[in-house]
Amino acid sequence: MNANGKEKIVVIGGGIAGLTAGIYALRAGFAAEIFEKNAIPGGECIGWNRKGYHIDNCIHWLTGTKKGTEMYDVWSKVGALSDDMQYAPIDAFYISTYNGKSVTLWNDLKKTERELIAASPEDEAEIRKFIQAVEYSKQCVFPAGKPMEMWGIKDYINMGASMKDFPKVMKEFGKISLEEYSKRFKSPLLQRMICDYLPKEYAAYSFLVSYATMADGNGSIPMGASLQMSLRMEKKFKELGGVIHYNKGVEEIVLEGGNATGVKFADGSFVEADYVIPTVDTHILFNKMLPAKYMPAELKEAYDAPKTYPATSGFQVAYAVSTEFKRGETIFIEIDPIRVGNRSFSRMYVKAYGYDPVCVKDGKQVIQTCLSQTDEDYEYWKSLSKEEYKSVKEALVREVSKRIEEAFPELAGDLEFLDAWTPLTYERYMHAYHGSYMSFVTTPGGKQIKMKGQLKGIKNLYIAGQWTNSPGGLPVAAASGKFAIQRILKKQRRDINL
Ligand SMILES: Cc1cc2nc3c(=O)[nH]c(=O)nc-3n(C[C@H](O)[C@H](O)[C@H](O)COP(=O)(O)OP(=O)(O)OC[C@H]3O[C@@H](n4cnc5c(N)ncnc54)[C@H](O)[C@@H]3O)c2cc1C
Repeated sequence: MNANGKEKIVVIGGGIAGLTAGIYALRAGFAAEIFEKNAIPGGECIGWNRKGYHIDNCIHWLTGTKKGTEMYDVWSKVGALSDDMQYAPIDAFYISTYNGKSVTLWNDLKKTERELIAASPEDEAEIRKFIQAVEYSKQCVFPAGKPMEMWGIKDYINMGASMKDFPKVMKEFGKISLEEYSKRFKSPLLQRMICDYLPKEYAAYSFLVSYATMADGNGSIPMGASLQMSLRMEKKFKELGGVIHYNKGVEEIVLEGGNATGVKFADGSFVEADYVIPTVDTHILFNKMLPAKYMPAELKEAYDAPKTYPATSGFQVAYAVSTEFKRGETIFIEIDPIRVGNRSFSRMYVKAYGYDPVCVKDGKQVIQTCLSQTDEDYEYWKSLSKEEYKSVKEALVREVSKRIEEAFPELAGDLEFLDAWTPLTYERYMHAYHGSYMSFVTTPGGKQIKMKGQLKGIKNLYIAGQWTNSPGGLPVAAASGKFAIQRILKKQRRDINL
């Protein structure tokens, strides 16, 4: 209990899940305190400044920007979005190029269909099927009303009715990888387009759903960049009376007789809690804060099989270039192979952030690229000495710059290097498992992780965060924070509608 006689919820981690849990806790009448190891909120939903430029490092699309969806309701209640929010004026998911030709995945699916057929008439039948599958995938709307274990028959009937065609997508694309799917197309350009956005091991349906979310206007990018969204949520939390402590990393969750009594810090101090909601990476949770024996079997299975449940991270580089550079916001290019970590890449993208004034300064805008990295790449980076790490990074930046200048000759001499970061950056900054900034990748061989958030043997601990529901991401993180509070309310036999 706090001084006002309210039950106190301690939240570990001030990322999107932690801030959402804190805000919903306050909405439900609890006292809430968040402990965050870093100096700012947001966790992986952040950005930072270099040489006066803002590097936005999260939102490529935000599921739940469409009014009327359950996720929009969550984003509004936590102060992330509001009805007068401005969104980035982006009309396409991305552009893929190959051998001097290009195709664009427009938000307008009919336009995409026409363009793809014109680029590869021999693939017409497969293109029409692709567009149909994306159209069906628009029905796959993230359910953020309440945790699924609280669903009744009516909820299932409603979902069945609103998603009546989506099972066809899952049947055909749920168990094949993007790489396999791409082979159905004859055109080398279209094959590349299918594998460009997500790692090629991902189940094909995840790509269809991602594109559908953009095409449906439910995956826009709020102007002002990712960190600003986290700061809006922090403001909301404080306005409602929440307390957030920065630079205060939790060492341990203290257990007594099947209860979590509070949290302990490196200096030995202890903060008492009626409920504890950890939102940190589950690898840290079960290897540091709680005894490993509490790890649920489905998580253990995933950590033990990294090929089936890969982590996803990146080697990323940011530059400032003239705002005159505009070839579409996100454009994929063919490159001379480049080795990053343990893998070689022949494709790479450039994303231009000039659409947001926050990422523009003195006539220059930030551009970024990300070469995806996974578990064995993380091991590679980890094996380097401090000096090797620095020199490998510098050499890679030179190689990446060369590839960009080759693809975009107008940028030769104009690239001003701002920053480069690796999976180890995510590990250091957020304690992210293998540097992964999403949860486990959904591969055709793996099961989706769906944790109910409670652990056998601990009564008042409710886990939230993106790792509770693969493949993670911002909506999963936020919904998990809300669900943790609803689970507490349910246990207290209170109304869960917040
Ligand atoms: C480059 C990039 C692009 C992305 N693009 C998208 C996108 O377009 N759309 C999308 O939906 N998602 C995207 N994501 C993923 C999204 O950012 C994450 O899924 C989400 O932010 C995870 O939120 P979380 O609260 O679950 O976890 P986290 O953000 O990891 O929050 C956990 C918090 O716990 C803190 N912490 C760790 N250890 C301790 C400790 N011992 N004590 C106290 N605090 C601790 C961490 O510092 C962190 O703040 C992207 C991420 C990155 C990095």
